Amino acid sequence: MPESEKHAPPSPSHPERAIIDYEGSTYETDFWGSGSREYEDRAERIALRHLLPKHGHRLLEIGAGYGRLTAEYHAFEHIVVMDYSLSHLQAAQNRLGATPRFTYVAADVYRLPFAAASFDAVTLIRVLHHLVDAPAALQEIARVSCRGACFILEYANARNLKAMLRYAFRRQSTSPYRYEPTEFVTLNFDFHPRYISDALQQAGFQNESKRPVSFLRLGILKRIFPAAWLAAFDALLQTTGALYSPSIFTRNRLIQDEALARAERLIFTCPSCHVPLQRENESWRCSTGCRYLIRDGIHDFREQLS
Ligand SMILES: [Zn+2]
Repeated sequence: MPESEKHAPPSPSHPERAIIDYEGSTYETDFWGSGSREYEDRAERIALRHLLPKHGHRLLEIGAGYGRLTAEYHAFEHIVVMDYSLSHLQAAQNRLGATPRFTYVAADVYRLPFAAASFDAVTLIRVLHHLVDAPAALQEIARVSCRGACFILEYANARNLKAMLRYAFRRQSTSPYRYEPTEFVTLNFDFHPRYISDALQQAGFQNESKRPVSFLRLGILKRIFPAAWLAAFDALLQTTGALYSPSIFTRNRLIQDEALARAERLIFTCPSCHVPLQRENESWRCSTGCRYLIRDGIHDFREQLS
């Protein structure tokens, strides 16, 4: 029996989905700004540049944070910069500017406030490892993607070389070969590549490309070698397609038969009722009475106003 048949296919499972909130965190300065992750940042940009389409109409960046990678999406006419944290979106807006090219949206990935088939590209980078219900998120992303849309997904790989060695030498108890996601810290998940492939397929995506990234994520290497050297070597390793790195980037196409709704303007829909929203001064209103605020240029769909 092939291994994949031993498992129930990935399916949405958590009615109460906890969300990790970076609100007010010092993620930008501590995690990326200190320079200790320059190698990872460079390696990720290399992977992204290989996977991104050469041009496009409208891209949704989910979990954009303070906009670390947003400049990479310059080939797109319109970019929706989305995060759950208002403070990160404010930082992104300060960085990228309040121009019509960027729309800033605070929302949760399981309840996207957009009409079906709104985007021809979606990116989800360094986000999936915080999601308790990955299949539900992928299905929601498929809903807002138009037919043929490009979906760039990065995930944390449970079956990485370091974990395989640690497991072999009994330094870690959880098997890196486990099919189901492993929650190693609350709201931090590692995924087996086969689980991700199945979940993508289930949501209607077809994989086009896979790039293993950040092979050299070891403190000792980062202390000895300049980040640019490590990134250059990582770029070579990425082309091997050997999926044993801690991070994997994938490019996928939506093959599901969804009508292409390439509206001139982005259509916001109510994340609860799924009907189009009407703009009313600095808020959005749905026909059943839900209201959402626009706060200093950020469309906030996390919760309704009472
Ligand atoms: Zn509503």
